[in-house]
Amino acid sequence: MTSVTKMWPILTATHQYDKSLSTRNRGVGQIIEAPILAYLIETKNGRILYDVGCDYNKINDPTLRNRYYNPEVFEFGAPDMNPEQRLPNQLKRMGLTEADIDVIFLSHLHFDHAGGLCDLCGAEVHIQADELAAANTEKDLAYFDNEVVAQKSWVVKEGEYDLTLGVSAISSPGHTAGHMSLWVEMPKGPPIILAGDAADLIENIKDEIAPGNCWQNQTELAIESIRKIKKLAHNEKADLWPNHDIVFWKTLKQFPDFHS
Ligand SMILES: [Zn+2]
Repeated sequence: MTSVTKMWPILTATHQYDKSLSTRNRGVGQIIEAPILAYLIETKNGRILYDVGCDYNKINDPTLRNRYYNPEVFEFGAPDMNPEQRLPNQLKRMGLTEADIDVIFLSHLHFDHAGGLCDLCGAEVHIQADELAAANTEKDLAYFDNEVVAQKSWVVKEGEYDLTLGVSAISSPGHTAGHMSLWVEMPKGPPIILAGDAADLIENIKDEIAPGNCWQNQTELAIESIRKIKKLAHNEKADLWPNHDIVFWKTLKQFPDFHS
């Protein structure tokens, strides 16, 4: 039984970076283009967004861009994001506003997953206690300070739980301290596991390669999480979706088309 009716993968931006950021110690010197995605999940009990992409202003305002994406510290620079890709504008295409989103569930607090929060007030924002603590204390260039501090609607969670019938939070730490994947049981097709950055690419899943950045360099923890979600997918005959794989993303329904 599931309360899920539809799911839309939404392209919020694209980012070019060294492949070794996705596959640890593999692909150094090879630049890849990665989609930055959000997923809108419609259920009979409300709408959930899994991740919200980047803060548009930090990419497009020259002063902010220089502060947050200065190539001297941020080697691969800013992602590409146009105004139409801001989530409120994409929701508008569907006749929705930010008020129609009930829950924002963040995989983790990196800039390309949590930055768009500033465009979406109102919904409660689910985050793990471990993730919030790490983002507030640890040196990780991919956490942008004010995105963590400014947010006031946190619903702080510990461990796995059901968001609603057919949608469950799955713990997959390693890339970050409190990283979460999401189980989505579809009304018609097989269940879908949104890996988040536990697995950027198909290659991470296939070859069990850790992401480039691992929390406190705990590569093994990241690999364990990949094995965990792979096993779950296998046992439950679910599809496991990597998060930053442009070739894989092109095989998905293109917005505003949806999965059901
Ligand atoms: Zn990340």
